[in-house]
Amino acid sequence: MGGDVGLENKKYERRVNSTKGKKEVSFEERLLKEKAMRKVSKDDVIFVSVSNICSMFWCQRQMIFKLKNGELQAYKSYLLNKESHGNLTIKEINNLLEKEKKRLKSKGLCQPMDIEMMGTLILTGEDKLDRGCFREMFSKENYPTLDCSFKWKRYEILASPDGITDQFCYEFKSVSNQRLIHYIKPIAISQANLYSYLFQRQAIRVQLYLEDLHKVLTFEEKTNPSTAAGVLITMDRLLKGELAPSPPKDWKCRICRFDCEMKK
Ligand code: SF4
Repeated sequence: MGGDVGLENKKYERRVNSTKGKKEVSFEERLLKEKAMRKVSKDDVIFVSVSNICSMFWCQRQMIFKLKNGELQAYKSYLLNKESHGNLTIKEINNLLEKEKKRLKSKGLCQPMDIEMMGTLILTGEDKLDRGCFREMFSKENYPTLDCSFKWKRYEILASPDGITDQFCYEFKSVSNQRLIHYIKPIAISQANLYSYLFQRQAIRVQLYLEDLHKVLTFEEKTNPSTAAGVLITMDRLLKGELAPSPPKDWKCRICRFDCEMKK
């Protein structure tokens, strides 16, 4: 499920790597074979995650780095999804989500926490967790979710929303400083929009947790399918080199961790 992708991937890797008596095939080799089978060049990136795609709203060049560096991870998630539930129709996705909703309800986890109530618990609790982190943890609303892969053109798009209801896909992000809202909001909105487009939901719900103010901002809007399709087309053209990446604000390059020629 959404938040446990890394953990599930690790378990999956351990299981695959511990297969006794068989010649061990690394995930790198499997990825190359898969690309050959699909008749794409080994340098073409075809396993991509929604979160990395939407980093284009921070910097298009950075999106290319992230998609390249993150492809192996995306491929592992793709294999894991394939093994756990295969290609699902929307009806099958909805049935699985309904089951997950019942499971969460039985544990009393399906309702959003009351932020004021959590504030009281945080202040009176003896937990050693950082207060901001604790608040963030309980500010995020609980909805059922599912990791799925969707085929689009030659790509396998890995979607792992923070929540999925009958009406919307939910995305939650922490923002360290309120001045960054202007930059983080478009990323979060486009991510939720792409999820809702893929999971065929009519709306999106986005929450930004402002760490400096301990405040949650909520945004809801209708899904915009043409914007979502436009994001995928832009990704495709950027990856194929048909479109030159737009330069970001200078300050973004100064704090960027990628080894990029744009860094002065
Ligand atoms: S250095 Fe600048 S242009 Fe290059 S990836 Fe980083 S933010 Fe983008």
